[in-house]
Amino acid sequence: MSESPTPENASFDQIGEVLRNHQSFVLISHVRPDGDAIGSQIALGFALMAAGKSVRLINEDGLPDNLEFMAGSDKIELPPAEPLDVEVAIALDTAAKPRMGEKALHAASKAKIWLNIDHHKSNPSYGDLNLIDSSSPATGQILYQLITALGLPMPAESRDAIYVAVSTDTGSFQYPSTTAATYRMAAELIDHGLDVGKINSDTYDNHPYRRVELMRALLNTLELSADGLVANWELRDKTRIDLALLPEDSEGLIDIIRAIRGVQLAVFFEELVDGKIRVSMRSKDKRVDVCKIALEFGGGGHSLAAGIRMTGPLEDAKALVLAAIRRHIEAAGL
Ligand code: 5GP
Ligand code: MN
Repeated sequence: MSESPTPENASFDQIGEVLRNHQSFVLISHVRPDGDAIGSQIALGFALMAAGKSVRLINEDGLPDNLEFMAGSDKIELPPAEPLDVEVAIALDTAAKPRMGEKALHAASKAKIWLNIDHHKSNPSYGDLNLIDSSSPATGQILYQLITALGLPMPAESRDAIYVAVSTDTGSFQYPSTTAATYRMAAELIDHGLDVGKINSDTYDNHPYRRVELMRALLNTLELSADGLVANWELRDKTRIDLALLPEDSEGLIDIIRAIRGVQLAVFFEELVDGKIRVSMRSKDKRVDVCKIALEFGGGGHSLAAGIRMTGPLEDAKALVLAAIRRHIEAAGL
């Protein structure tokens, strides 16, 4: 997606050499981490630890409460104030370097080498070595291939984390990004002892009551465009405060309006604590690429799922983004 030519990807062997030849690592993922972000950190982190490496797992926003069930998640730390003495920093599932957050970047500032492993097509390859595979439905699936190809250990924490990473980023193995390789990988993880019933129940049947209250509040703000192509809803400060919401409580709820028959574009506007507006977009039609729309406002992501953080107020962000979506719908001839 970037205008400048993308540097070539490193090979698994080149990545393997960096992993083998160094002893200390910090693994970082993006702000407001999701299952693929935390799952990728645990997956690679525990594989490296099992190989005898010293590993720290850092996230700007720490571990969200909906992922506390994940084995190994207690290793996820907030960024320490002082930079860590580590040789290698590894960015996981992070479309742009600033998405790691200032404190996390400061914590990794002494690293001599940066690896960038991701599946966002908008990733500008900001690492010294990059492994960007936008055909992969999740960073967790790239890590599965990497760990397997390099013969790294696959402890139970890594095995389960890879499953959660891929399951959450594919909407439970449903999105068109899901491939035969994804299902083969899941089968192999089950062969290696993954308890599929338990992990799905922990991931999907385990919501705090306030999340369902949030659904009710969001439904009261639902809007559908006259032609039925665009559905949007919004979360205001007042609702966040009244329901004592945590950032992760809204994760995945956009799928409810994405699922409306006839809707091709779903949009979620949210007032953030810092005054910025978070915009989440989903497309069901390949002809309308929401990553391109997000890039117009400094965001990014994938063709069918992308996001933006922009300046408020919410009314202005909404008017701008809905107008851009309308332009793209017309250009695509929908
Ligand atoms: P979500 O809507 O679930 O937050 O994000 C959808 C996809 O877009 C994710 O892959 C996420 O990493 C990406 N994304 C979300 N917000 C932003 C943003 O502000 N900047 C960039 N570059 N990517 C984003
Ligand atoms: Mn991801």
